[in-house]
Amino acid sequence: MAIFEYAPAPESRDVVDIRPSYGLFVNGEFVDGSGTPFKTVNPATEETLAEVATASSDDVDRAVQAARKAFGVWSAMPGAERAKYLFRIARIIQERARELAVLESLDNGKPIRESRDVDVPLVAAHFFYYAGWADKLAYAGFGEPRPLGVAGQVIPWNFPLLMLAWKIAPALACGNTVVLKPAETTPLTALVFADICRQAELPPGVVNIVTGAGETGAAVVGHPDVDKVAFTGSTEVGRIIARAVAGTDKKLTLELGGKAANIVFEDAAVDQAVEGIVNGIFFNQGHVCCAGSRLLVQESVEEEVLESLRRRLSTLRLGDPLDKNTDIGAINSAEQLAKIRSLSDLGESEGAQRWSPACELPDKGFWFPPTVFTGVAQSHSIARAEIFGPVLSVLTFRTPAEAVEKANNTPYGLSAGIWTEKGSRILWMADRLRAGVVWANTFNKFDPASPFGGYKESGYGREGGLHGLEAYLDV
Ligand code: NDP
Repeated sequence: MAIFEYAPAPESRDVVDIRPSYGLFVNGEFVDGSGTPFKTVNPATEETLAEVATASSDDVDRAVQAARKAFGVWSAMPGAERAKYLFRIARIIQERARELAVLESLDNGKPIRESRDVDVPLVAAHFFYYAGWADKLAYAGFGEPRPLGVAGQVIPWNFPLLMLAWKIAPALACGNTVVLKPAETTPLTALVFADICRQAELPPGVVNIVTGAGETGAAVVGHPDVDKVAFTGSTEVGRIIARAVAGTDKKLTLELGGKAANIVFEDAAVDQAVEGIVNGIFFNQGHVCCAGSRLLVQESVEEEVLESLRRRLSTLRLGDPLDKNTDIGAINSAEQLAKIRSLSDLGESEGAQRWSPACELPDKGFWFPPTVFTGVAQSHSIARAEIFGPVLSVLTFRTPAEAVEKANNTPYGLSAGIWTEKGSRILWMADRLRAGVVWANTFNKFDPASPFGGYKESGYGREGGLHGLEAYLDV
């Protein structure tokens, strides 16, 4: 039952001029790709947005050569000069924020409220932050700053432009040049970013964008003249990349999957915790590597928390990503929807209880309702596998020690959340949780100054903050 009826508040699509087809961005120019072009669709409507070039291994080679040539110019430039370009890029991102947000929502399916208020502002913030480091690298604590060379970067579809910023901003600040491959289902904002590089008059070859599928990604990471590989995506592909890079001189950072525990103690402020649970798993349709996909709630407050959670979920609005009132947008692709469906069905067949609020799904596009599983045991697939969708698994605990044990009982270790009134308990828990990021009385908060990365199968290396510089310097 909705508390309020909202009038539609659609953001205008006209602020973006989507071209019928896009090429690769190599050496400062848009060029044709020699592979078979592919279509990118709006997952909310299944409408084709544009045709996009596929980079073959020869195209990737040209991009790497352009980056190698540009490395001479870019790495020799004083840090203060490189900073000017990065500041300029950051400002253009702010100027073109509305266009970028609308395009991100169209290509990815995420609500405009998120692309406008979270993704794009954070993208600009990353460029501002690393622009600030470009002339201070000698004081970062890594000795004489020397860049690595050409960085080959492969990113996923869940935060297309933000993952690009996490990768490109520190690489450039440190004096490296870049060949980046966006995900096949979300290439468009990376191509607008290419245009922003031109607008900022970035020297040709410093940033190259090669679109295509996994094969293009494999050509980037396997190229012999790439010095550094940075990957964000599934643990499965992360393993393939680690094998491809093993035995070479390439430096590697991997940011992979997660199955974070969001832990609610009986003394937590329930309404605040419920907001954090909702934000933790339903933000970006749960397509978030650090999503709080396992709720660990203290047994004594389980019913109270679940009742409040169900009430809150009944007020979420699912639908048109371009409507400013929308909380939950579309699932990014038919493949991802199939994966979410099959894991959820498995959860039911393994004996967990499934619940979703009454919620009408649009006829076209890829949609999945917010879903909560209770009665979940640690052995259930939905307590172990990364579902990467709007699906929460609820488990209970009695003591803090049990909460720690259950939270750490996962092959992953990217993030965790703690909800309690007691500061000492927060510190006690944070000390014991094997997770790269631990949030206390909040969740999914990001800041460019704060490092991010995992333990165990969530990968290695850190992105963001001072730590993020290390991955792009020869230290
Ligand atoms: P992938 O890990 O396959 O995709 C990430 C990026 O790697 C994409 O650009 C992809 O290209 C590229 N890629 C694929 N294969 C290779 C390869 N052999 N060498 C180099 N690059 C490659 O994720 P998917 O999009 O296939 O999603 C599968 C599952 O992964 C999801 O269901 C989800 O569970 C998880 N996932 C986790 C993410 C995280 O941040 N933790 C992010 C994305 C997915 P292309 O787009 O063409 O496939």
